Amino acid sequence: MYDCHYDLLTYIYMNRNNLKEVKQRCNKIFNNNITGGIFNLFYMSEKEMYEELEIKPEEIDIILNLKKVQEIIQEENIIPKNIKYIIGIEGLDYLKKIEDIDELYKLGVRSVNPVWNNHNKFGTGVRPIKKTNNKKGLTELGCRLIKKLIETGIAIDLSHCDEETFWEIIQECIKYKKLKPKILASHSNCKSIYNAPRNLTDNQIKAIAEFGGIIGIVEVKAFCSDLEYEQSYIKHINHVKKLLGNVENIVLATDDMSYYKIEPKYYQNVNIFKQEEVEYKITKLLKNNKFTENEIEKIKNKNYINFWK
Ligand SMILES: [Zn+2]
Repeated sequence: MYDCHYDLLTYIYMNRNNLKEVKQRCNKIFNNNITGGIFNLFYMSEKEMYEELEIKPEEIDIILNLKKVQEIIQEENIIPKNIKYIIGIEGLDYLKKIEDIDELYKLGVRSVNPVWNNHNKFGTGVRPIKKTNNKKGLTELGCRLIKKLIETGIAIDLSHCDEETFWEIIQECIKYKKLKPKILASHSNCKSIYNAPRNLTDNQIKAIAEFGGIIGIVEVKAFCSDLEYEQSYIKHINHVKKLLGNVENIVLATDDMSYYKIEPKYYQNVNIFKQEEVEYKITKLLKNNKFTENEIEKIKNKNYINFWK
């Protein structure tokens, strides 16, 4: 299966001094399981970067971090050649200037989240803003960024945006429709099944589908339900299928967080499935819930591949 959202590059960067562990984990997840996907470098606030990922503020530099990770991947053969992946940047808080998008494209970046949960110079994420006078939605710089991403041919990942930012990005995409903007929500579920801030309303799901975008139904418990995780995971997939009339826009996402250094006991229990058996488990779940072979193939592989054509 293709994993539409996995912060593997952050994991590699964090553990650059312990490549033995990195290799062991990669061997496990790539063995007959994950065949490709969007592998991200993930950025949050400086405090969170340090406390949760052990990345110091002075180390944070999107371009340098990405170059370092690519060097490790190449020199140490971390990711097998047959794994087809796209590089994503989750959270552009540390982008120094809009023109740096060109450099990121050259380095292989094909998908970005303009915002993570926090608000930044481009727009607002789903985490509530403390100061009430702060405007929600895209900033002027954010509009320039979206235009630049569309012109460059980088996909815009709408997971983590709040509703204002989401719809203002859609407006920009409508403005530049001739340039065929690529949009997706790499790891978000359905609000009408489970009302989590990171999930999408039916209208948001329809808007992504209208642009031929994909929605990565994510196997993180907090976005699925309070309990009955496996069954609720299927409910989210079924809901998108019913809403859109087919499975063409549905893909799968793990957003595996078991590598977090802080509170390992908690983070090892955030995902529904163990990363090394996620493909087997989801396939079995889809079969048991009467999805056809053809639908399963589309959800696991074809829809993702078609999106990047
Ligand atoms: Zn995320």
